[in-house]
Amino acid sequence: MQLLSDRILNMATSATLAMAAKARELRGEGKDIIGLSLGEPDFNTPDFIKDAAIQAINENYNSYSPVDGYADLKQAIITKFKRDNNLTYTPTQIVVSTGAKQCLANIAGVMVNKGDEVIMPCPYWVSYADIVKLNDGIPVEVKTTIATDFKMTPEQLEAAITPKTKMIWFSSPCNPSGSIYSKEELRGLADVLVKHPNIYVVSDEIYEHINYVGKHASMAEFEDMYNNTITVNGVSKAFAMTGWRIGYIGAPEKIARACNKMQGQITSGANCIAQRATITALNEPPSKVQYMIDEFKVRRDLILSLLNDIEGFKTNVPEGAFYVFPNISFFFGKTLKGKKINNASDFSMFLLEEALVATVDGESFGNPDCIRISYAASQEQIIEAIKRIKEAVS
Ligand code: PMP
Ligand code: GLU
Repeated sequence: MQLLSDRILNMATSATLAMAAKARELRGEGKDIIGLSLGEPDFNTPDFIKDAAIQAINENYNSYSPVDGYADLKQAIITKFKRDNNLTYTPTQIVVSTGAKQCLANIAGVMVNKGDEVIMPCPYWVSYADIVKLNDGIPVEVKTTIATDFKMTPEQLEAAITPKTKMIWFSSPCNPSGSIYSKEELRGLADVLVKHPNIYVVSDEIYEHINYVGKHASMAEFEDMYNNTITVNGVSKAFAMTGWRIGYIGAPEKIARACNKMQGQITSGANCIAQRATITALNEPPSKVQYMIDEFKVRRDLILSLLNDIEGFKTNVPEGAFYVFPNISFFFGKTLKGKKINNASDFSMFLLEEALVATVDGESFGNPDCIRISYAASQEQIIEAIKRIKEAVS
């Protein structure tokens, strides 16, 4: 009998985590790799949050929490949703999980049946398609290009809908393109969706605060979308807490209860110390972490100006998150330093081997013409990395 399940054998390895592991391995061999592959802030978790965690340990928070999160954390999330997003949720609509990634896995687990279609504008975040496939769902890719700032139009959405469409999943600000849907653009999509009341939206807002252009808009803000939207968020990005593993949803009550049931069998709930620290993080106004956003914006401008100076790199202007997603198809068919570049994966590997810079190929995000570069790195590292890339390709 086969040792491993078809389920795991058919699953792709997370390209972001695989590249981070590869970069770590090469560094272990003494190579001076600059890691621009992983999407995680290079800042330390702010002291006021660390202090809250230390206090929680000293106050003996060591038992299982309620499966869906401590009541006072859920209250802090409700207050945050009202304060930042003008969204009204009750405690039974909130579920705290082990990162936004588990929120997404819960949602797929409780909502996707075999053959259900989940529309995802491309490029999408690397794990969406595999989480859906793991649950026997079918990811339906909607291709976008730099010309529309990598955003899906209402017409494209309408054309992708079939009787099997169960959900649409997207992130705004988007990982990997950095694009942000304005309130008007979300309304355009909502106008299509209200004609299909059986379709649900997963609105992944984990980069909400990493926004360089203005007010964040949430799909659930529209009254006629509220009952069909699951808002996903977490503390990984805005508070530099990736390893703490806390994410949360605001959702229609039936869906939230199902997610609660699901994680009751799978994790028993999120880490209790991290939950206590998250209360402190969310209770502070977003201005408390603005210094990180300001620095990310300086880096965005820096990396764009450096990349635009290299022939063959075509970029949009990312309005949020901390990634650029250049189209590098100019290099396909060319031979660089004796290596034939056939696709984005070859190009990303070439950059790793010849420039010692780790990036991620766009194929894993549903766009094989691009690579993703994270600029969650110091300005010095960004300058050095792009200099090396320029030398390697010229
Ligand atoms: N959604 C998006 C768009 C992401 O980039 C990430 C990356 N971490 C996640 C969800 C998952 O975040 P986490 O599990 O760290 O909360
Ligand atoms: N979301 C980050 C990224 O896209 C972290 C890695 C991951 O969770 O896959 O790089």
